[in-house]
Amino acid sequence: HHQAPANVLKITVNSPEQMGELGRRLAKLLRPGDLVMLTGELGAGKTTLTRGLGEGLGVRGAVTSPTFVIARVHPPLGPGPALVHVDAYRLGGGLDEMEDLDLDVSLPDSVVVVEWGEGKVEELSDDRLHVVIDRAVGDTTDEVREVTLTGLGGRWSDADLASLAA
Ligand code: ADP
Ligand code: MG
Repeated sequence: HHQAPANVLKITVNSPEQMGELGRRLAKLLRPGDLVMLTGELGAGKTTLTRGLGEGLGVRGAVTSPTFVIARVHPPLGPGPALVHVDAYRLGGGLDEMEDLDLDVSLPDSVVVVEWGEGKVEELSDDRLHVVIDRAVGDTTDEVREVTLTGLGGRWSDADLASLAA
């Protein structure tokens, strides 16, 4: 049994503005059918990254932390894919609620970004970009983040993640 090695990039992000910039650069690598999982504690910067992604993709509507909705669809303004932004925090572990979102239906034509998706969305695709955001150890400004991007599956094996570190 052979599994392709994961494609991994670790970068340091020093401010919310840089996190947005990372999202805008990441948007250039994304295409319809891509699933991005965002991991990090509350306030890590998952939504900030997604906002930059939405700007880079050129989609309608501001990306915000959804308070009452679990998933928000941002239609494309141009020829690119829609952005489906999911905050799965309030979703139970059961697959039922997840299935109600019909992400499998939207995924082929969209970029699907899921906050708090571990254990909930892996079944959607073996090809996933997993982004883990950690507060930097010893950072007194509370603005420094260590971001680890791991591309899983054939879709990501040749992706130029290093271009994100520019
Ligand atoms: P999450 O979605 O992970 O809960 P948000 O993106 O909603 O996090 O909020 C992150 C908060 O942390 C924002 O208030 C943002 O201004 C602040 N922040 C400080 N430094 C950073 C950074 N380097 N990247 C992202 N957000 C940061
Ligand atoms: Mg959030």
